[in-house]
Amino acid sequence: MTQDRRAQLAANLAQVEDRIAAACAAAGRRRDEVTLIVVTKTYPASDVRLLAELGVRHVAENRDQDAAPKAAECADLPLTWHFVGQLQTNKVRSVVSYADVVQSVDRPKLVDALSRQADGAGRELGCLIQVALDAEVRGSGDSGVAATGERGGVAPEAIEELADRIADAPGLWLGGLMTVAPLAGPYAGRERAAFERLMDFSTTLRAAHPAANMVSAGMSADLEHAVAAGATHVRVGTAVLGVRPRLG
Ligand SMILES: *Cc1c(COP(=O)(O)O)cnc(C)c1O
Repeated sequence: MTQDRRAQLAANLAQVEDRIAAACAAAGRRRDEVTLIVVTKTYPASDVRLLAELGVRHVAENRDQDAAPKAAECADLPLTWHFVGQLQTNKVRSVVSYADVVQSVDRPKLVDALSRQADGAGRELGCLIQVALDAEVRGSGDSGVAATGERGGVAPEAIEELADRIADAPGLWLGGLMTVAPLAGPYAGRERAAFERLMDFSTTLRAAHPAANMVSAGMSADLEHAVAAGATHVRVGTAVLGVRPRLG
């Protein structure tokens, strides 16, 4: 069983690696400009262990209930853990205990809670601001309610303030931006344009925070678009681990 699974994961990883390498070549980028993060949500700790043996160094999870025990079981592995799901403040203590980077930072209250926990634990936690590209047009008609995207994240207008808050917060470092290609709004079905828009926001962000150069975009279905647009991190689940039994 384990041998079969190992061979399957190795073959899938090789395919994803080929895709990333081809996308880098097509974009005239060096392969080492793009980091692969394998999204292991819904899959067991045994898969995480096999992935680590196969050379994976970055994994991501989106739900604390699943991630916390998995990370504990895999604490001996040389892995960087990314949290990419919507995060409630009552889960912050747990998430800070294993995550190295939270990619889904989307509100000031969450920044404050992450800072308090990370600083208290003597940790330095990376933070990416999740940008909702479908919140951009919504804001105006929404009678003053702060716009959030279908799939989480902040409206682009909120990036600057959130970035300053993270940069000033003890225990946190500002990594950059993350997005999920929107299902609604002007960028629905236009992944390349969506990711290029995210790059514009990254350029603006880096003018004020030069070290915040991470751009996390692209999943199994659209990683080529993300690499073409300039992403530094792609988050791939299905193409490595297989189709998830249920939505995770
Ligand atoms: C699940 C998930 C991914 C990976 O998606 P796949 O289509 O399985 O590659 C990437 N990013 C986030 C935020 C996710 O929740």
